[in-house]
Amino acid sequence: MSDCLFCKIRDGLIPARVVYRDDTCLAFEDINPQAPTHLLFIPLKHIATVNDITSEDREAVGHLFTAAAKVAQQRGHADSGYRVVMNTQRDAGQTVFHIHLHMLAGRPLLWPPG
Ligand code: AMP
Ligand code: ZN
Repeated sequence: MSDCLFCKIRDGLIPARVVYRDDTCLAFEDINPQAPTHLLFIPLKHIATVNDITSEDREAVGHLFTAAAKVAQQRGHADSGYRVVMNTQRDAGQTVFHIHLHMLAGRPLLWPPG
C-alpha cells in the first residue's frame, strides 16, 4: 500500500477539497494556501519528482497544464494572471513526493519567489 499522501487523496482515503478531476489528473485546494486561489494539480499516476518523469508520462504531465488553464479560465484568472510551478527536491522546497503543479492566483505574485 502506497505511503504517499497525494495517492491517498487520489484514492479518497484522505479528504481534500477537490475542484477538478478527469481520466488522468486531479486538482484540489492546498491545505495551506499562499494566495486567494491555491490549487494543486496531480497526475493520477504516482511520479515522485520532476526527475522521475519519463517520455511515457509526457501526455499526463502536459495535461496538468491544460487542466490548470481550464480551471484558471473558469475562475476568472486567465487574463489577470496566475502562476503554475512545480517544486523539485530540497532546495526548491518539495515536501510531498508526488508531483503537483501549484496554481496560485488572486493577488499580484512577486518575482523572484525567493
Ligand atoms: P511542495 O512543498 O511543493 O511539495 O508542496 C506541497 C503542498 O502540499 C504544500 O503547499 C502543502 O500546503 C500542501 N499539502 C500538504 N498536505 C496537504 C493536504 N492534506 N491537502 C492539501 N494540500 C496539502
Ligand atoms: Zn503518490
